[in-house]
Amino acid sequence: MEIAIIAHDGKKTEMVQFLMDFKAIILAKEIKLISTGTTGKHAEKAGLTVKKYLSGPYGGDAQIASRVAEGKTDMVFFFRDPLGMHPHEPDIAMLMRLCDVHDVPLATNPASAELLIKAL
Ligand code: PGA
Repeated sequence: MEIAIIAHDGKKTEMVQFLMDFKAIILAKEIKLISTGTTGKHAEKAGLTVKKYLSGPYGGDAQIASRVAEGKTDMVFFFRDPLGMHPHEPDIAMLMRLCDVHDVPLATNPASAELLIKAL
C-alpha cells in the first residue's frame, strides 16, 4: 500500500498532526509514504520514513500524478489550502484529475483522510 501525502504551506501543521495521530496505523500496515519535498521533510521530523519527490512548485505534484497514472500509488492525502494562491495550480488540477481517472481515493482535508485511513 503506497499513500502519497502532500500539504500546502498553510496545511503542513495539520498534516504533521494527522501523521502523528495515525502513525500507529501507518507503521502497523507497513504503508509506504511518498510525498512532495517539503511535506516529506515535515513528515520525517514527525519520525516517519518517506520517499520524497520534488517540492510541489518544482514538479512534485506532477511526479506523484505520474505514479497515480501508472497504478503505483493507492491513495492520496492532499491537504489543500483553499485560501492560498499556487503557482503550480495546473499540476494540482492534473493530480486530482488523474485520481478521478484512475479511481484512486483522494482526501483533500484531514476529516476525509481520517475516514480513509481508518478504513484500511
Ligand atoms: P511541498 O509541495 O510539500 O514541497 O511544499 C506541496 C505543494 O505545494 O504541492
